[in-house]
Amino acid sequence: MNALSGVGVGSGIAAAKMLKMPDPLAPPSDEPLAADVESEHQRVQQALQLVADELNARAAAVGGEAQQVLEAAALMAQDPAILDDVRSRLESGSNAERATWDAYGSFRDMLTAMGGYMAERATDLEDVAQRVVARLRGVSAPGVPQSDEPFILIARDLAPADTATLDLEKTLALVTEDGGPTSHTAILARSKSLPAVVGVVGILGAASDGQLAVVDAKAGTVVLDPDAEAVATAGAEREVRLAAASAPITDGALADGTKVPLMANVGSAKDAPGAVELGAEGVGLFRTEFLFLGASSAPSIEEQTKAYTEVLQAFPGKKVVVRVLDAGADKPLAFLNDAHEENPALGLRGIRALRASEQVLRDQLTALAAAQAATDAELHVMAPMIADHEEAAYFVALGKELGLTSVGAMAEVPSIAVLADQVFEAADFVSIGTNDLTQYTMAADRQLGTVARFQDPWHPAVLRLVKLIGDAGARAGKSVGVCGEAAADPALAVVLVGLGATSLSMSASAIADVRAELLTVTLDEAKERAARALTANSAAEAREAAAG
Ligand code: PEP
Ligand code: MG
Repeated sequence: MNALSGVGVGSGIAAAKMLKMPDPLAPPSDEPLAADVESEHQRVQQALQLVADELNARAAAVGGEAQQVLEAAALMAQDPAILDDVRSRLESGSNAERATWDAYGSFRDMLTAMGGYMAERATDLEDVAQRVVARLRGVSAPGVPQSDEPFILIARDLAPADTATLDLEKTLALVTEDGGPTSHTAILARSKSLPAVVGVVGILGAASDGQLAVVDAKAGTVVLDPDAEAVATAGAEREVRLAAASAPITDGALADGTKVPLMANVGSAKDAPGAVELGAEGVGLFRTEFLFLGASSAPSIEEQTKAYTEVLQAFPGKKVVVRVLDAGADKPLAFLNDAHEENPALGLRGIRALRASEQVLRDQLTALAAAQAATDAELHVMAPMIADHEEAAYFVALGKELGLTSVGAMAEVPSIAVLADQVFEAADFVSIGTNDLTQYTMAADRQLGTVARFQDPWHPAVLRLVKLIGDAGARAGKSVGVCGEAAADPALAVVLVGLGATSLSMSASAIADVRAELLTVTLDEAKERAARALTANSAAEAREAAAG
């Protein structure tokens, strides 16, 4: 047994054979054509046909949006203009691989020059070219491997295009050499509830196709050639997880009946029905900036009222926590701040950017108040990146002036934890954004793979800050939510409750696992686990200590 570690994403465990995603092909050589043009042209024609058939077959199997992407790619493989171009290149002395590669290359350059939608298709063309050349070369095609057996996918990282063709029925876990907890792979793993370990340095060299492995997202490990006992344990844990996913939907609670509402993080009204179906008891974080990423001017009050009303209507009588626009760093909004900053994560962002454009903030609060009046949902509004009492008091006063009833602060900047007592004097509630709280506590950019191992909310420094907020919330008799990704990790969710979180909000797909885990502990047990994690020396030790 040989174990490699990285950053575990989400939860779950899987034992299966590994399949590696092949690296992109090396460009073909410039060797002149050694065979006759006619037979080489036929060989290319056959390769194109096989690739088109394969893409069409996969399109029919996957359905939905991915089907259209794959069918379009199949059409690209069958384009007669490509075959004509290949012929003239063969006639000029290029070998078959080079002729095909260059024919697609010039087609791709043409699309890129057209810009817009056509330019976006250039990447798909690149993928088709790689597949055809792989056929001619007799090697595995790049891209997501296909298998009739369940497998663990090993890749350098996954691009959005790869995820469209990933067969989720067969993919039991994802492991990447690069990437951090906010990479595309991590987002996919969370949204599909797949166990994943990212940033596993050395996995591409160590793993081979068909080799058995156990991927444990909770521990952040990939065990190669596991023994029979490890495989059996993984199988049993997987069964428990599957059972949790199909267990009846109940409100979030601990084993002793302590209520812990489980809410969903959403980015638009279209996320709402899915969240309700998965048992979300409300919305713990509505990221309103997702509606306006890419907008060049501030949205109108009417436009915003409509968008907020749609989300609130999906949760009659339920709590919906809306975050006002969180501009900056990973979520740029040009109309709030388009100045170049050396360190945007430490720049004019969150509440600071809104304060600098107060009319935008006033308009948003006005739209929220209108949506509150038009629906039966229980609206709570919070501001991102509040650093102290003064900022909290400013935001709460403005929210109340504009007609809102419950106005709070997000805890993402470590100073707010240190000053939690003061902040609760102003704010009606606090919701902890563990993604940014971890980034700022550990001084590790949440988007940077090289520092991914520091981006771990299990770190006792982060947990101690959560406890400061939890304790202050309890003293003030106010609610303390957690809406960062940490809430989606079932073992950590228990610890967060033990530290004083009164509700948890996460991607709706994570709710079933968290619900099942909470039901296994009493509040006293959650507090004991939290106490053990707080005294650990590292994130890894905190995980182990909490597990007991
Ligand atoms: C967070 O920082 O934890 C959070 C919930 O906000 P976002 O991920 O949108 O920055
Ligand atoms: Mg944040």
